Amino acid sequence: MANYKKSHKIKIMEEQLSKKLSRQVVGSLVGCVHCGMCNDSCHYVLANPDDPTMTPSYKADQVRKLFKANHDWTGSVFPWWVGANKVPLTDDDLDKLKDISFGTCTNCRRCTINCPMGVDTATLNRLMRGLLTNVGVMPEGVRVVSKDQWEIGNQMGVLKEDYLDTIDWMSEELEEDLGHNKAEIPIDKMGSKITYAINPREAKYDPRTIKKAALIFYAAGEDWTMCSEGWDQTNFGLFSGDDGLGGVSGQRVYEKTQEIGAETLVISECGHGFRSTRHEAVNWSGTQVDFVMESSVKTMLRYIKEGRIKVDPTVNSGRVTYHDSCNLARSCGVYEEPRELLRMVTTDFQEMHPNRIENFCCTGGGGAMSMEEYTPKRLESAKVKAEQLKATGAKIVVTSCHNCVDGLADVIKHYELDMEVKQLVDLVADSLVLPELKKTEEAFAEAPAEVEVATTTTEAEPLAGRKVLVVDDEDDVREFLKTVFEDAGATVLEARDGHEAIAMATAEKPDLITLDLSMPGKDGVEAFGDLRRDPTTEEIPVCIVTGHPEFRQVIYDRVVPAPEGYLEKPVDEDKLVAYSAHILDARDKKRD
Ligand code: SF4
Ligand code: SF4
Repeated sequence: MANYKKSHKIKIMEEQLSKKLSRQVVGSLVGCVHCGMCNDSCHYVLANPDDPTMTPSYKADQVRKLFKANHDWTGSVFPWWVGANKVPLTDDDLDKLKDISFGTCTNCRRCTINCPMGVDTATLNRLMRGLLTNVGVMPEGVRVVSKDQWEIGNQMGVLKEDYLDTIDWMSEELEEDLGHNKAEIPIDKMGSKITYAINPREAKYDPRTIKKAALIFYAAGEDWTMCSEGWDQTNFGLFSGDDGLGGVSGQRVYEKTQEIGAETLVISECGHGFRSTRHEAVNWSGTQVDFVMESSVKTMLRYIKEGRIKVDPTVNSGRVTYHDSCNLARSCGVYEEPRELLRMVTTDFQEMHPNRIENFCCTGGGGAMSMEEYTPKRLESAKVKAEQLKATGAKIVVTSCHNCVDGLADVIKHYELDMEVKQLVDLVADSLVLPELKKTEEAFAEAPAEVEVATTTTEAEPLAGRKVLVVDDEDDVREFLKTVFEDAGATVLEARDGHEAIAMATAEKPDLITLDLSMPGKDGVEAFGDLRRDPTTEEIPVCIVTGHPEFRQVIYDRVVPAPEGYLEKPVDEDKLVAYSAHILDARDKKRD
């Protein structure tokens, strides 16, 4: 080996390698004892059992040689023993390395979890990819996708006007489906509690997943928005090994969510997008985020558990199985939430084997779908995946990853399986029960400006024996309402915000709730939705007492039965008593 023979690119790669030697990387570089225990973990090995170049250790050895030659004493003393005398020298050698690291490994990390020495081959393979990408050696597909993500801001090169047109189109479809425009998809709604980031594949090829997610947010009464910028939660930097691209891509999403002021960034179903955005890009970009990041799988599960949406699993009665995305499951530990959700929205869920941490890659991971030149090898390696799928007897394979949707669809087509691929958002949206929708619409249409009742009563204590919960953040308003109700014979409970209101309503079961809308923390609109969706409080009459100027619009936009009444502030005390008695009499008659 002579240095003068080395190509300029190799020298740059060696310099770059020295900057990437973290403890985790060095541990994997020196840890391999070439025992071969990881070999059968790899789908490429299973499809090519007699080819030693498919083994995880062979792939990792390519970067290991560079390390041994430049950083490890064994490379100086025994270069022939540790391969340090076989480092790449020419640009042709780099092309071979490109084919190994991009074409024979999907960075699935299945070998990683089966290595007794804790060697993370996928990390080393990504490192090699990054070294190559840095000197411009990469498959054409990786070059194009990376360029789009750098320059246009999303990896599919979707232009801003096309993206916004697609959102409009989905809003219109929702309006047609529901018969009203209250589920319109918001864009850049400042102060929203949730920002929703998607995979550009949704905007370009599968926009109805956006519509389905919007329907679920609407049904849950969520305060959410999509964003005109920083909406691509995917990150090609994870696949190409380019930490710079990885950092910038994540930063765009974080900055937009911070600008909106959202409490939570919900990441649509995408394994590598979730891993990059939630876990990796904060490090690549050095960003401190002050909001929660969660997968939409967790969001949908939460909505069902909290009673915010109702689902009918019989709608999805065919047999389904679940494919764990390598990134969402093996790399991020999201195993049980999708299964819990699946059992709630389907009636015949069949596990695939092996599953969870041991599941096999869809073979489209690691950016493989963008590298056409390796498709034959990829599909050949998918034999084990096809066998897994077939053995379940399912007609639908569900996965929480857009990348896996494409990878699995290719496998199904190539191996002629009788299956289709769906995501959890499809099954949740399809099984949504919206029985209250018509009722709410009718209530909105019929709701009077303010119900007219007699403002005087002959009874000394018209609310005697009644328990009233007064919810308002202003002390003087609460005090006023309390005094009026107590003078009318009622027992009065007080709450200062939506959280207290729900806790007290659940525990005390009042006969009537007066509810302010504008309150800090959980506001009245959100609390009203929660009260209506909880079977233990849904029948408690609610009278909105508000100074909120757009009250009618806000409160009737809920997919829940309308409130029994409302009064605008400032409230006349006689009217308050008479109106409350009127609501309670109506409730009593209804019960009788
Ligand atoms: S990566 Fe681990 S399991 Fe695989 S050959 Fe090396 S030491 Fe053995
Ligand atoms: S990361 Fe996956 S594809 Fe790559 S060598 Fe390991 S098992 Fe094979």
